[in-house]
Amino acid sequence: MRILVINSGSSSVKYKFFVTPDNVSLAEGQVERIGLSGSMLHHKRADGDRVRVGVDVTDHSQAIDAVIAVLISPNHGVISDKSEIDAVGHRIAHGGESLTASVLVTPEIRKEIENCIELAPLHNPHNLRGIDACAELLPGVPQVAVFDTAFHHTMPPHAYVYALPYVLYRRYGLRRYGFHGPSHYYVAHRAAEIVGRDLEKLKVITCHLGNGCSMAAVRHGKSVDTSMGFTPLEGLVMGTRCGDIDPAVVPYIMGKERLMVSEVNAMLNKHSGLAGISGISSDMREIEEQALAGNERAGLALDIFCYRVRKYLGAYAAVMGGVDVIVFTGGIGVNSPIVRRMSLDGLGFLGVGLDDGLNEQSTGRDADISAADSKVRVLAILTNEELVIALDTDRIVGNLNKPEDELHAQDHQERGADA
Ligand code: ADP
Repeated sequence: MRILVINSGSSSVKYKFFVTPDNVSLAEGQVERIGLSGSMLHHKRADGDRVRVGVDVTDHSQAIDAVIAVLISPNHGVISDKSEIDAVGHRIAHGGESLTASVLVTPEIRKEIENCIELAPLHNPHNLRGIDACAELLPGVPQVAVFDTAFHHTMPPHAYVYALPYVLYRRYGLRRYGFHGPSHYYVAHRAAEIVGRDLEKLKVITCHLGNGCSMAAVRHGKSVDTSMGFTPLEGLVMGTRCGDIDPAVVPYIMGKERLMVSEVNAMLNKHSGLAGISGISSDMREIEEQALAGNERAGLALDIFCYRVRKYLGAYAAVMGGVDVIVFTGGIGVNSPIVRRMSLDGLGFLGVGLDDGLNEQSTGRDADISAADSKVRVLAILTNEELVIALDTDRIVGNLNKPEDELHAQDHQERGADA
């Protein structure tokens, strides 16, 4: 099956084009600055061919039209006609409490995604624009929605209910949802493959450290806790987000600085984290450079970032009654030996040992960086969220064409395997 994976954001559309069952990506890219001056399309084919062109796109529909045009273009394309696109998989930020697994987009499901807009006002509307654009440009092509929140729906209530008046959970769905689901799912499975053990028998802590950062406790293949919460603001220190703080800070600072709700929101989401502490940058490469050059606040930002990761490692080991594998992923996790070393510092009591040489040498690729005598395996893994979306799309669309009795047999088999 030829599958177009779409990640539709506020002013960008990212895409990747897969062929299953080989699970290879033929091309990928993005359209940037939708609706702004200087819109650009970056397109990269698997054979290395690259193109960067200015495009005139004022909305998501025009952006996806430009993506389809480059995919079928004689010079840079990978197919000759848009009818060769068999299915589209969309990354959707929030599925709320009802959408707990990937699903075929029908008018009812579209409505449910719309109902979740209140929970993700910055993401779901743009994700829906992607769905609507594909429905218009690729009529009749099945679309599948894959939710960032879905992998964490296995969390128990004691992990997802906040200690607020319970009525707020009932009334507004105010609870921990967690995000980065496809990434945590992918690296947990890949980790089991690398260590050669059954994921059903492992306690894994996955650390997705990119511009946004989150960790998950994955026990026997299921997420039992995660650091992002009602929104992606909770938990770890991020590029520009503060992560955990005392909630009393919010009314206090609003009074002191006479801030409006939107201003305090911007402060916590856009002007905090590495950027806020260091006053230099939200980019970990720059923070590391400046810290090594002796800049104190860059050093402090790095310390706080890694200390927070270490606290969650301890917490999630406690949550699961131990840990077998720790995985680092995301741009920072897979590329930064310094962050990995500092985050694991002092965790020898948990049986965590890092091989400093392997750690230093391993950037930008999958690697086992544990010390030979480490009880806990420490891995760096390149995440592949788009592949998870493509595989779910392949499975769901593939099932559409299967006869009823075959589906029943498959369902029975899957449930048997779960038990
Ligand atoms: P996103 O969350 O937007 O997908 P990424 O996963 O690409 O972002 O992560 C971006 C982060 O990874 C940035 O903070 C960047 O500085 C960091 N990063 C990338 N390469 C390195 C590196 N070699 N060393 C340290 N940090 C790195």
